[in-house]
Amino acid sequence: MSRLLAPTLREDPGEAEVPSHRLMLRAGMIRKLAAGVYSFLPLGLRVIHKVSNIIREEMDRSGAQEVFLPTLLPAELWQETGRWNIYGKELFRIKDRHERDFCLGPTHEEIITDLVRNNLRSYKQLPLNLYQIQTKFRDEVRPRFGLMRGREFMMKDSYSFHDSEASLDKEYKNMFDTYCRIFDRIGLQYKVVEADSGAIGGGFSQEFMVLADTGEEEIFYCESCGYAASRESAGVGKYKVTGQGVSRTEHKMQETLTPDKKTIDEVSGFLKISPEQMIKTLIYETEKGPVAALVRGDHDLNEAKLKKLLGVEEVRLADEKVIEKVTKSPVGFAGPVGLKNIRIIADTAVALIPDGVTGANKKDHHLIHVVIERDYKPELTADIRLAISQDLCPKCEGGHMNVTRGIEVGHIFKLGTKYSAKMKANYLDENNTEKPYIMGCYGIGVGRTAAAAIEQCNDKDGIIWPAAIAPFVIDIIPANTEEKEQMELAEKIYSELTKLTPDIILDDRPERIGVKLKDADLIGFPVKVIIGKALKDGKIEIKLRKTGETKLTPVGNAIEELAGYVR
Ligand SMILES: [Zn+2]
Repeated sequence: MSRLLAPTLREDPGEAEVPSHRLMLRAGMIRKLAAGVYSFLPLGLRVIHKVSNIIREEMDRSGAQEVFLPTLLPAELWQETGRWNIYGKELFRIKDRHERDFCLGPTHEEIITDLVRNNLRSYKQLPLNLYQIQTKFRDEVRPRFGLMRGREFMMKDSYSFHDSEASLDKEYKNMFDTYCRIFDRIGLQYKVVEADSGAIGGGFSQEFMVLADTGEEEIFYCESCGYAASRESAGVGKYKVTGQGVSRTEHKMQETLTPDKKTIDEVSGFLKISPEQMIKTLIYETEKGPVAALVRGDHDLNEAKLKKLLGVEEVRLADEKVIEKVTKSPVGFAGPVGLKNIRIIADTAVALIPDGVTGANKKDHHLIHVVIERDYKPELTADIRLAISQDLCPKCEGGHMNVTRGIEVGHIFKLGTKYSAKMKANYLDENNTEKPYIMGCYGIGVGRTAAAAIEQCNDKDGIIWPAAIAPFVIDIIPANTEEKEQMELAEKIYSELTKLTPDIILDDRPERIGVKLKDADLIGFPVKVIIGKALKDGKIEIKLRKTGETKLTPVGNAIEELAGYVR
């Protein structure tokens, strides 16, 4: 420790908002160079190496092969798939001295597809899975949370190539199992959730989420059947219309004055009704024209579901002008009754409203006693809202959904031919016919996994590393380095244990014991060996970071016992 560059801080750095960021700075593991750009100091780098090594071992075991692709990527390949334009401002773009466009890679689908199309022709060479562990770049609008959302970050990304869906399914399952082994070995609690594919696109995908209260993502899960999904993609079970309480109102629909009352809260407060009675009407623009999407007043629309349902690339809330044109009234009074020349899509919960209230498409007016099918007819009724806690599970339709929080550390995708078709990346099948590769892609955030481990395991004193990725596993602490007997024993234990593993550190700094213990807890070494007062009675103290468990061990047993922790 006396030689180690580990500048620990006693105070919390002001810039850090989450525990992992705060504790990695305080423990002297990382330092900020620029927004979202960090240097790794020796302790931080050891953690990164440990995470990477576990990933590498398990990827190799899975049959994938390691490659290393460039970071500096020519625009031409990105233009082939159209992503040069689609990716937007998050892509770090640069020009070389000849004014040629390049970017710093945020992901490598195009690059790997190009490599494979130029070097592999026959179905006999398939399947193939290539991976790399490499630095990626993304020009985040708001880089924050330290390693959690950086502009430069380390990823393991891999890409598989197949000649059939069945082969892709098999490799996807292989990667699923590999990821489980990786996160099990690291020692994290996680859930695998169904996810939206986002900018990478393609078909089915799942995210590996490390559970942590401070996580950015909401995870919806069913305890009855194990279904789990991200907020974006969580389905909602079908509520059945049963017996009493749901019979439709017999009152006729009627217009009522709601001066200046526009929002759900304003209208429901003014009319003294529950938001559950309100039919919220949202006008969206899509490349196929505008759409009126109806959700219950207390629910929120899920744009990803709407997009999928309509089969469109983009949905965005219409601006004032479009709303006024469609509804022929100012914003705030839209409703489905009498709407013309626009597709009307209702959420399934809207269809169950027995006595609805909605905008009258007329300034300062709403309609009451509105009943679906009687007063308006949506073109489609489907699940288009965001799930909420206690919703029915969409899978077993018996259990209810719980919500917890997590951090996305891995994502596995079935891409299909999304990239290969656009890039004419073909192989020859047994009949010598050219066919596009069927692809999968699989990512793990390396730095993010380390940060997520801290978010999951920390306390007021500092980090509690899972042993598999701790920078050092055993910290040997002589209480007083001036005491010859203590130092000699410390050195002896150190040299014996380092024969078994390099994961041992000796705190030989001429500091007070209190300082050394504080640093040890802050950095999060799993095992502390304290050589101090008890030595008079021939004993040393072994203390575990995670449980706080302490025990005195006779010096004669020390090495054997500590070797057990190493193992
Ligand atoms: Zn369920």
